[in-house]
Amino acid sequence: MNDKPVYLDYAATTPLDPRVLEAMMPYLTEKFGNPNSIHTYGREARRAVDEAREKISQLLNCQPSEIVFTSGGTESDNLALRGVVEAYRQKGNHIITTAIEHHAVLHTCKALEEKGFEVTYLPVDEHGLVYPEQVAEAIREKTILVSVMHANNEIGTIEPIEDIVKAVKERRPDILIHTDAVQTVGHIPVDVQKLGVDLLSFSAHKFYGPKGIGGLFVRRGVKLVPQITGGGQERNRRSGTENVASILGAAKALEISIEEMPKEMTRLQKLRDDLIAEVLKRIPDSRLNGHPSQRLPHNANFSFRGIEGETLLLQLDMNGIAASSGSACSSGSLEPSHVLLALGLSYEWAIGSLRLTMGRFTTYEDILKVIELLPSIVEKLRALTGFTV
Ligand code: PLP
Repeated sequence: MNDKPVYLDYAATTPLDPRVLEAMMPYLTEKFGNPNSIHTYGREARRAVDEAREKISQLLNCQPSEIVFTSGGTESDNLALRGVVEAYRQKGNHIITTAIEHHAVLHTCKALEEKGFEVTYLPVDEHGLVYPEQVAEAIREKTILVSVMHANNEIGTIEPIEDIVKAVKERRPDILIHTDAVQTVGHIPVDVQKLGVDLLSFSAHKFYGPKGIGGLFVRRGVKLVPQITGGGQERNRRSGTENVASILGAAKALEISIEEMPKEMTRLQKLRDDLIAEVLKRIPDSRLNGHPSQRLPHNANFSFRGIEGETLLLQLDMNGIAASSGSACSSGSLEPSHVLLALGLSYEWAIGSLRLTMGRFTTYEDILKVIELLPSIVEKLRALTGFTV
């Protein structure tokens, strides 16, 4: 038996795949050049960055010039939103987004509201779905940008981005559409042409790449005001010496994830479905949050009435299971998740949430451990607070 805790928090971050580390190593050591230098060292690094950009663009089905490397999902979301609205300010000041976006989008929208932009936060249905007609109906004359996430990081619901794009562009082809695909790139097929979006954010540490590296797809012709100015790297859209090893790592990680995706999706979906069925069967007063079928293959999100999610997490941790109660960023506070509240859950159900996300190194034994331990832990915690089902 392995003594290490079972890791079921892959939506928060994933371990670096050893094959990715191996690909990165030379660029952390002897191939250390700055890609902007013209000597041999620099050219070697430039080649690596160019090849990585080429690989990622092929995998997402776009042009290399349409990829901007950033420090991760948060920066990509910021660049997409702030960069676009600043560039198109003359045209309008209205943004449409949803109530369940990651804080990288929501807090950015709040900041933009303070600068005079108007934001519509669309509600979602009880499964976390946004409807295309709803987005189209929210369009105003002054709308310049729509930002709807591809899949939600807490509940795993996959949004109908393709249909949302169609519904919006049918009415107003000039409105730009961004999707935060941080939870989908490397996990389910993502093709920017098929989705039809103008901007798409991704982050390597969510698909077994290093932390602190990500990117933004920016469709050719879309204007963007850079948020980091300096030496003019990334075609003037994001200055700063390129993070060569990490860029290479992101490309390698995405290549592996996409290669293994068909098998991995089927495997994880089976683990997820067995876990969901057993938990709901064995624990009274429990529910599954998110869409029953239109959800990420590796995401299960539950609520248990009469339980506080944070206490449950501590108990699970003591029993060798690492999980999350929602998004890692909001852990540590007792605020119920804004996503669960948006689904219409009461405070009581919303604070009793548990997110279990599986990945490349999750085994069936890991899931069995949860199935065996979770019911008794929930029962014990309920007994402590005097909650009866
Ligand atoms: N967007 C979504 C949907 C996420 O899940 C995350 C990470 O949790 C982010 C953005 C932020 O990405 P990063 O951690 O790379 O800044």
